[in-house]
Amino acid sequence: MKEHTRVVVIGGGIVGASMLYHLTKLGWSDVVLVERKQLTAGSTWHAAGGFHSMNSDPNVARLQAYAISVYKEVEEISGQDVGMHLTGGITIAATAERWEVLRYEHERHRVLGIDSHLIGPEEIKNLCPIMDTSQVIGGLYDANEGHLDPYGSTQALAKSARMAGAEIYLNTMVEDLVQKPDGTWTVVTDKGNIQCEHIVNAAGLWAREVGSMAGVHVPIVPMEHHYLLTGDIDEIAEFDGELPLILDMDGEMYLRQERNGVLLGVYEKNSTPWSVDGTPWEYGESDLLEPRLENIETELMRGFERFPSVADAGIRRIVNGPFTFAPDGNPLMGPVRGVQNYWSCCGVMAGFSQGSGVALALSQWMINGETEGDIFAMDVNRFGAFATKTYAVEKGQEFYENRFLLLCPNDEWPAARPHKVSALHDRLQQTNAVFGASFGLEIPLWFAPPGSAPTETPSFRRSNAHDPVGEECRAVRDGVGILDSSSIAKYEISGPDAVSYMDYLFASRLPDLGRIRMGPLLLPSGHLKGDLTVMRLADEKFLVTGSGYLQEFHMLWFEQHSAGKKVRIVNRTDELSAIAIAGPETRELMRLVASGDVDKASMPFMSVRSMDVGNAPCLIARLSFTGELGYEIYVPAVYARSLYDYLLEVGGQFGIRPFGIRALVSLGKEKSFGIWSREFTPDYTPAMCGLGRFVDYDKADFMGREAALADREAQHEHQLVTLDIDSSDADAWGYEPIWCKDEYAGFVTSGAYGHTVNKSLAMAYVRTQFLESSSHEFSVHVVDKRVPAVIISEAAYDPSGSRMRS
Ligand SMILES: Cc1cc2nc3c(=O)[nH]c(=O)nc-3n(C[C@H](O)[C@H](O)[C@H](O)COP(=O)(O)OP(=O)(O)OC[C@H]3O[C@@H](n4cnc5c(N)ncnc54)[C@H](O)[C@@H]3O)c2cc1C
Repeated sequence: MKEHTRVVVIGGGIVGASMLYHLTKLGWSDVVLVERKQLTAGSTWHAAGGFHSMNSDPNVARLQAYAISVYKEVEEISGQDVGMHLTGGITIAATAERWEVLRYEHERHRVLGIDSHLIGPEEIKNLCPIMDTSQVIGGLYDANEGHLDPYGSTQALAKSARMAGAEIYLNTMVEDLVQKPDGTWTVVTDKGNIQCEHIVNAAGLWAREVGSMAGVHVPIVPMEHHYLLTGDIDEIAEFDGELPLILDMDGEMYLRQERNGVLLGVYEKNSTPWSVDGTPWEYGESDLLEPRLENIETELMRGFERFPSVADAGIRRIVNGPFTFAPDGNPLMGPVRGVQNYWSCCGVMAGFSQGSGVALALSQWMINGETEGDIFAMDVNRFGAFATKTYAVEKGQEFYENRFLLLCPNDEWPAARPHKVSALHDRLQQTNAVFGASFGLEIPLWFAPPGSAPTETPSFRRSNAHDPVGEECRAVRDGVGILDSSSIAKYEISGPDAVSYMDYLFASRLPDLGRIRMGPLLLPSGHLKGDLTVMRLADEKFLVTGSGYLQEFHMLWFEQHSAGKKVRIVNRTDELSAIAIAGPETRELMRLVASGDVDKASMPFMSVRSMDVGNAPCLIARLSFTGELGYEIYVPAVYARSLYDYLLEVGGQFGIRPFGIRALVSLGKEKSFGIWSREFTPDYTPAMCGLGRFVDYDKADFMGREAALADREAQHEHQLVTLDIDSSDADAWGYEPIWCKDEYAGFVTSGAYGHTVNKSLAMAYVRTQFLESSSHEFSVHVVDKRVPAVIISEAAYDPSGSRMRS
């Protein structure tokens, strides 16, 4: 066994083996994998081995498509058969709603790069003769789906890695992880110690245990999962070909051919979390759990109805095995905040679809310092301390049970809620707020009319929130609106090196004392890493604000670049509440409640001052994301409630009215304001998305400068635009394709109805070749139809920005 190496990958399941292979593929060959038993000894060996490329996140979908190509690649390199059955797959719809969603998905696949086809019941029957298609309306067929041999594919990856120089130590148990002062690690195993630079936790079912060896909490829960294998079915034996992989989401099951029978798996509502207090070390290799047929009966019966011959075939074997789920079902990958050189590579619920994609992205991150493209949907830093053990269990279980639920974009799932609440929560409840959750915190989405239930009907079209949100928007445009924006992330950065540190990290010029600037963060490649707001509170003290769900993501970045600097970086998000007030009457209100001068001359747009509001000591930022005159008030959480009450009381004379995030999004869309994770992501550069105007290209040095300068001169394939869509009952959500006549011209990033301009608006990346002529006619696919759209050259509301600056 080597005593020194660059990377130790812990765990030899499909994910660890993929990781080892990708590290070698990208150029690091001095790497080892340590496996306590044999390869596949965790959840991998008993998997059904199914894979598919569909995913609602385009980058995850791309990585899933990539994963499929890797199996062929490693089979060729290693000579090891991966047992590939590229049968194609059909997701079927048995309800009108599901069929509509599948058609919508099909349109979006154009954007995601998935070549899928809609097919009818007859074609489905031809491809899968054992299905009773009498209730089936149609299906979405993807040729790039199928199944493979879990053991063979893991071996092929491992062998290919070995051939490139990696070493694998089987029957070797990692017992402890000790970090040395220089940030490197001692991996303590039962066969001796290995010194290494980096650790990768790919311990699957035992990721929590391996995490705790380094003090890392891994928010996952193993869930029991059943599939059954049948005896031979005549129709299959006689069938010329192989059955496709069938995903029957309405029936909450999947099916594929296994010899001349089938494998039928279910996602049961009556689910069972397994070993919530920790995975026993004795488990594994060839262990399975006792089947709980009574728990899966309902779903099985549905399966037998859809596939009648399966019921008659007899059950040859029932498999009940555990595998892990993160709270939202996506992998947990990336560097772990606060633990240097420690990489998470676990929570991979669909190891055969996602393992290689996760491994590719993580290897890029380790070797190149950044991933190619936005992988936030899989980044372990989308969770923070709020994702406690019980939270992870409740959410993981909820995800398992709803994995195949028809998910609408306005769905808010209820498990583990309320979890974190702001100081204003009960006040918001009293005014009938409908809540969503962001980074564990309850946030007001909109306010239901008095006397009606504070709930929203899940829908792809405009919901019962539409009219109330419209009223909230008009209240902001005409008078004063008030928003609990406590979820906004607030970081205090101070110290003797704060200026030089921030000046390098932010691509913008730093604001002068008492002023505010928009502050893009760039990656070394010049792509976006963040879009923050920077306020200068003192010569060497800044308050930086941004999207609340990115707190760990931002803090990790700040901390990774602060080594050796005299800076103090504190996340004050939970400690400081934020109340936003916006609207033309806002200054009048502020004159009545604030202790200092709020007139334009003393407090212009993009300035920040400390002053009391009522009895509360506040920091007031003169900015608003509504496009109106507005102020963000930051206040210690203990004062927030009395401050809110006071603002409502005094604001009564101006018709003050609470508004929610939905109204904020709509008002922002009217101003063509982009938002992080939609218009702004690491997929784009400032020059592509309009943030270039905040970059100080003349600054001597900043992270990503060289690349940003080159990019400024470059021709970009796409450009960010705003669309006015002619749609009467639905608005775009994101990733809808845009057509110029019949040519694919780009895709929507986000959409909303602009209530005060009466337009269905969307922001979109459109191929530059289609922007050259103003005569182009565009259309966008919104839910179930293509509707005309025009590009608007300036914001739909107050394009000069005079109201916001007033
Ligand atoms: C019944 C069932 C059906 C499934 N069907 C599918 C499917 O069709 N398609 C799909 O994509 N996924 C499927 N899955 C999920 C799939 O099995 C998992 O996504 C995948 O196995 C996760 O792989 P992993 O490498 O992360 O974890 P694991 O397979 O659990 O591997 C972790 C490895 O780490 C080792 N290890 C742990 N701790 C240590 C230590 N301290 N020292 C050394 N080694 C250690 C373990 O021995 C183990 O080999 C299914 C799962 C089940 C249970």
